[in-house]
Amino acid sequence: GENIITVGNLTKEFHLPRRKEMFKAVDDVSFSLKRGTTLAIVGESGSGKSTVANMVLRLLEPTSGTVSYEGDDISTFSGRRLLDFRRHVQPVFQNPYGSLDPMYSIYRSIEEPLRIHGIGNRKSRVTRVKELLDMVKLPSSVMGRYPNELSGGQRQRIAIARAMALDPDVIVCDEAVSALDVLVQDQVLRLLNDLQAEKGLSYLFITHDLAVVRQIADEVVVMQHGRLVEHATTDEVFDHPRQQYTRDLLEAIPGGHLQLGID
Ligand code: ADP
Repeated sequence: GENIITVGNLTKEFHLPRRKEMFKAVDDVSFSLKRGTTLAIVGESGSGKSTVANMVLRLLEPTSGTVSYEGDDISTFSGRRLLDFRRHVQPVFQNPYGSLDPMYSIYRSIEEPLRIHGIGNRKSRVTRVKELLDMVKLPSSVMGRYPNELSGGQRQRIAIARAMALDPDVIVCDEAVSALDVLVQDQVLRLLNDLQAEKGLSYLFITHDLAVVRQIADEVVVMQHGRLVEHATTDEVFDHPRQQYTRDLLEAIPGGHLQLGID
């Protein structure tokens, strides 16, 4: 298939306090996300996953290398093209408070991107918000409520509804289900799978949890200390991991031995 996001030799260095040399949080990483598929980036905490996600979202500037969206280098975007990119590549973060203002009603949280982008009028936006709530399987009665009045799973559905408001092509999920109980996590992953099947969305899915990967991803990139150590289909990674590091990550999954059938 066609690549919607391509990351080429992406590198990010940070200055560390009281250190002379720069620290490479992301070191020469290259991969592509195919349209309509899910690519998971896995690795332990600190391996550089979020830094990659933030560069893909153009929230952080690479030290070197490029991120392309639909074949164009995103660092060259400005004006209309930048707005278009911001509209079509949406984040969903682990902590929905990252995207939901606790002082905003659910209605206002979901409606805000529509208002900012000048889409529709007041009346059509109410209709659209109801449609978006229905899309994430929540009743329109939650519109008048506030994030702290909802469960973690419901808040994550609201964050997804907000991300869906502008009809994105790509959703970058950074540990989007990590804070949820396994059962709720399962429901949110199913919702994301359904939305993908229905809308042809592409997901860049950041997680430290390989059990989540198995449920959602078509392909997996394994990162360690800022480097890409393995990139393969999900089945390949689970059935024939090439790197010892990937095997160690798989061993850490509860019931991982059973899933791998190696005991
Ligand atoms: P992950 O998402 O895999 O947990 P991150 O991308 O958040 O990893 O971080 C990778 C490394 O870069 C970590 O060692 C982290 O401490 C460091 N890092 C991330 N952001 C910054 C920053 N703004 N300044 C300095 N170091 C940072």
